[in-house]
Amino acid sequence: MTLDVHTRRQILKAALGGAAGIVLGAPVRLAAQAAGTTNTLRLADDVFVIQTPGQANVVAHTSAAGVVLVDGGSASGADSLMKAVAALPGGGPVRTIFNTHWHPEQVGSNELLGKAGATIIAHENTRLWLTTDVTWSWSGQHFKRLPKVAQPNKTFYKTGELESGIGYGYIPDAAHTDGDLYVYFPKQNVLAVGDVMSGSGWPVVDWATGGWIGGIVGGVQRIQALANEETRIVPGRGPVLSLADVKTQLQMYSTIYERLTTLLNKGRGPSEAVEAKPTKEFDALMGNGDEFVRRSFESLWAYLSPDA
Ligand SMILES: [Zn+2]
Repeated sequence: MTLDVHTRRQILKAALGGAAGIVLGAPVRLAAQAAGTTNTLRLADDVFVIQTPGQANVVAHTSAAGVVLVDGGSASGADSLMKAVAALPGGGPVRTIFNTHWHPEQVGSNELLGKAGATIIAHENTRLWLTTDVTWSWSGQHFKRLPKVAQPNKTFYKTGELESGIGYGYIPDAAHTDGDLYVYFPKQNVLAVGDVMSGSGWPVVDWATGGWIGGIVGGVQRIQALANEETRIVPGRGPVLSLADVKTQLQMYSTIYERLTTLLNKGRGPSEAVEAKPTKEFDALMGNGDEFVRRSFESLWAYLSPDA
């Protein structure tokens, strides 16, 4: 989901200001707090998840041939991300970065890395979105196209494999956007899936660039088929998921999809769908579902109406 950078800066400033007041005379603790903004999770000797509050998850694979990243955070966090990557055991220059989709929370390091000569891999649809301006009609948010150097310079349609054996493929269900991809690290059994799945909170249903609730069901089903009991699944947000989590989410989204299509078939509109509380029993775990329900319902219109 999109992050208001200014808001976050203000929150951060306030938080740091508060902390400084409380721990005055304890500079060590303050330093630890400031440095603790990035949390690196080790999934294998050479695969890490870099988590920065307010930022999307970044997966890093280190090797003598250089670092491979899955997503690059937002532009405001690019420098600190590069520092976190350089500090990884076996960390070096980033040679390859995958964009799981076009959202600014994923492509913020593209410019920096593109200028450094890195290969930027994305589905062709993602590249196309990054070459044009996008506006979300429901929020008025406007996204500017990326400069040429920051655009994906290697695209694909179905699947691909890096020399190191790292596999990747298209998730054609249009779960989150119409350019979603997964990256699979076979030796480590780690599957990075971007925002097709969320580890914390309801996902964005970006129907402006193809995502829809039926696609979420299809995408999660596809991830279930790609994974096994031992696979660590890294979502765009929140903690690492297991196959059991995927199954739980699949059931949840299938239930919601069914309820929403029933409402649609009865001729109901988005506001009535929100009032019907079709996410009720899941809200304790996922948070307030109103925004998700409204976007999901609109996505049915966008997807199913014949002149869409
Ligand atoms: Zn996204």
